[in-house]
Amino acid sequence: MLNLTYIYRLKLNQQQSQTYDAWLETSRRVWNFALGERKDWYNSRSCRIDACRINCEYIISADAPRPTFASQCLALTQARKTNPNLREAHSQMLQQVLRRLEKAFIGMWESGRGFPRFKKQGRMRSLLFPQLGVNPILGSKVKLPGVGWVKMRLSRPIPDGFVAKQAQVVKKASGWYVMLMLQANVDVPNFVPHGQPIGIDIGLKSFLATSSGEQIARPQFFVDLQCKLKLLQQRVSHKKLGSNNWRKAVAKVSRLYEHIYNTRKDFHFKLAHKLCDQVGMIFVEDLNFKAWAKGMFSKHTLDAGFGEFFSILEWVCCQRGVYFAKVNPNGTSQICPNCNHHTGKKDLSERIHCCGECGFQTDRDVASAMVVMQRGLAAVGHTVSQP
Ligand SMILES: [Zn+2]
Repeated sequence: MLNLTYIYRLKLNQQQSQTYDAWLETSRRVWNFALGERKDWYNSRSCRIDACRINCEYIISADAPRPTFASQCLALTQARKTNPNLREAHSQMLQQVLRRLEKAFIGMWESGRGFPRFKKQGRMRSLLFPQLGVNPILGSKVKLPGVGWVKMRLSRPIPDGFVAKQAQVVKKASGWYVMLMLQANVDVPNFVPHGQPIGIDIGLKSFLATSSGEQIARPQFFVDLQCKLKLLQQRVSHKKLGSNNWRKAVAKVSRLYEHIYNTRKDFHFKLAHKLCDQVGMIFVEDLNFKAWAKGMFSKHTLDAGFGEFFSILEWVCCQRGVYFAKVNPNGTSQICPNCNHHTGKKDLSERIHCCGECGFQTDRDVASAMVVMQRGLAAVGHTVSQP
């Protein structure tokens, strides 16, 4: 299963935006009510003998169970029977509000984030619809719960073979947007490893390097767009909050963000197809991008979206009948692909692999890509051919 998210601008008519405005407000109230219930429960339990506040001691009996996602969903279903605002809003969407709250609490327990906060008017900005109907997209229109068919500015076509599974409607100062979560089936067919092999190392200098010596540069348009985005964001911060000029500046940022977000995927698809054109087997490193994103490569990794690229590459390989596999990434930059000599850790500034044992010399990232390919070939039982 491959999931991708695309962002499109929505053109809601007046009645449609009224409906969603009302749903946002209902969602906000549900959030605040459910948060209040959880907060009361915690307060009623947080009294230590030395710091006991009389007013919170016996509000909730000691054996009252802690409010959970399940218990709050049940209460919501009950409340919908009597409250017309709740009844008018989409029920699965409201449940997602409770799920988000649950996640906020889990984030607090596990990652030490702050206690979730109450939302002021207008601070609830998105509606998540976890399911869409059959064929929810027709041309440049999307069928959304509660409002029916809505026009989208389809800046990028939806890639072939993908269906929209979820939609998150977001209200920004610049208008309404939809984040469409698209899904494609990857029926991982058991391709027999065949044909030319290639190893890929995601580069620091370039976007990636291949074992055949090719270096794919980071697309310049992307670097330019990032600079432009920064500039526009600065402009927003210089405008008076809520003013007309501020609104215009914010709109520009949103549109550019949408453009960057979708264009990057375009680039990933094209590159994946290009790589598949040449070979029968592709090997990549099995990297933990989440850990990476927190470390020294954070900016670089997030910009380039490597995790997403690998997912797209795997999917395209599947479509094209190319064998795809991930290999152990440990120390790929510390081994000589020519003689397997352990060359030791390279400093990040060392651009060239130069083996002290056999004298083999090549670009550092290309050398890593060669090691990746050799590991892949060894895993599928092919003999490793020396370069
Ligand atoms: Zn060597």
